[in-house]
Amino acid sequence: MNSAVFIIGLLFALSAILITVNIFAFSSKMKVRGKKLIGLLFGATFIYTFGYSMELSSVDISYKLFFNHFQYIGLLAIAPLWYLISLQFKDKNIKWTIKNVLPPFILPIIILILNFSHEMNGLLYASYQTIEDYGINIVVFEKGLFYYISIANQNVLELLSFINYYLVLRKAAGMEKKQAVSLLTFSVVGFIMTTLCYFGRYTSNIDSGLIVISISAFFLLVTLFKYELFDLLPLAYRSVFDSSDNPIMVLSDSLKIIKANAKARIVFGDKLKQNASTLLHEIFNDDPEFVDSLKSNKDCLITKTVGGEHFYYAVKLISLDTGKSNKTKDFGYLLMLSNETTHINQIQNLENVASTDPLTGAYNRRYFFRHAEKLISRAKSENKPASVVMFDIDKFKRINDDYGHPAGDYILKEISSIIKSHISDNDLFARFGGEEFLVLLCSTDAQTAKNTVDKICTAIREKEFVFGEHKIRATISAGLNTLEPFTDFSLEESIALADGALYRAKAEGRDTVCLYIETNNEDQSCYH
Ligand code: GH3
Ligand code: MG
Ligand code: MG
Repeated sequence: MNSAVFIIGLLFALSAILITVNIFAFSSKMKVRGKKLIGLLFGATFIYTFGYSMELSSVDISYKLFFNHFQYIGLLAIAPLWYLISLQFKDKNIKWTIKNVLPPFILPIIILILNFSHEMNGLLYASYQTIEDYGINIVVFEKGLFYYISIANQNVLELLSFINYYLVLRKAAGMEKKQAVSLLTFSVVGFIMTTLCYFGRYTSNIDSGLIVISISAFFLLVTLFKYELFDLLPLAYRSVFDSSDNPIMVLSDSLKIIKANAKARIVFGDKLKQNASTLLHEIFNDDPEFVDSLKSNKDCLITKTVGGEHFYYAVKLISLDTGKSNKTKDFGYLLMLSNETTHINQIQNLENVASTDPLTGAYNRRYFFRHAEKLISRAKSENKPASVVMFDIDKFKRINDDYGHPAGDYILKEISSIIKSHISDNDLFARFGGEEFLVLLCSTDAQTAKNTVDKICTAIREKEFVFGEHKIRATISAGLNTLEPFTDFSLEESIALADGALYRAKAEGRDTVCLYIETNNEDQSCYH
């Protein structure tokens, strides 16, 4: 391949890649600190490369000179931009004002003006001539005074950038150290390339510095991503921390809260001390046991009331020890809370639906069995009795027949609430079947249970149920069995005995209570 075509083609390809990267840098939504500056640096490098490619490929000398002026716009901006990047690297929160942006550009602007007018004043270039190299017609310039001033200015800016990167490097650790080293290296390469320009009376035939600058630009891009240049990841972490909908806190190794995100301040605002650091257990009602279970990675759920609303939060304490380095050194902890309110409310709703009878609101048989076992074993361990009562509405079929099914439903609901109103919250009440109810009276002996059931029967007997225009009377029968702590039969057996007693109550004419009692001295069972 013709070397002229190769060189010019390469330069055009470089320009195309540079402008693509530049467009990407500006259009990407990614929040990268220094993105604009790096975009401008790429833009300047593009103008330089493209202008130079056009200069080489033009035939007419006036075009060549025009593109030479044009490329200078980019070339002269590179060192000042590099210096601004170093300022931002040193002070990540720097605010750009005319005072810190303008100074590095003053001399380059003057030199640019001289470049556009060098044929008149000869200050930048004393003269120029055309020579042929690699088959290309190249304009070479005899260096003038301001050419050297321009190079010196670039050197100064590169040196200042070098100092800025070095100052960061001295204090940096980890990722920032790698960033500083790579940026420092670019400054050194730039400095050497610029210094080479002092040599010779004429500017070089083919500008090799340009290739170096373009390649450096790509390395810069790689560094930008690889070493999280300009806090790419830390910034992302911080933004996740700040904007998370869940409370997050950073804790020291001694469990002091060092930082709490906005949500944590809303949820624990009342507990977080204003100036002094709060200890972890202080935000959890001074409960050291809770903190211990957090430390041992147990699943912990807390309830919090925020703005009058109740929330459930799953709490997790994560050790920041990476496990890689120094084992004796504690790195602190991350406390993460996730809002489980919707989830838990859904579970509770499902549990409610699965455990209650929709008509009366009483628990269903399934729930009764699940919880009665626990209550009975607790009663046994406390050496207390418990009584099982089975209720069945008398002649209920007739109520349905006489007044209709809706009236029957109404009576079921009313009787259910009468029974409920006579028992305590610790007792268990369930709709066992159609018109049958089951009650477990905790810590209640047979006599007390009988009194309660008598009261229920009386209340039902004496109540006049009004449904529409109907005034309805109803009675109920009950069978009772008391589980004394010394009895060893099961809940199912006790229910069967209560059911047997209920059968007797029905046989004895209904609207009555029958008891099945087992005594411990003689093996005798009897009904009353
Ligand atoms: P006994 O005194 O012997 O208990 O007579 P009873 O009529 O109450 O007994 P039976 O078992 O013959 O009838 C129970 C009736 O309860 C039959 C059924 O239609 C009615 N029933 C069951 N569940 C419901 C319900 O949810 N709503 C209504 N309205 N009636 C129900
Ligand atoms: Mg029945
Ligand atoms: Mg009945």
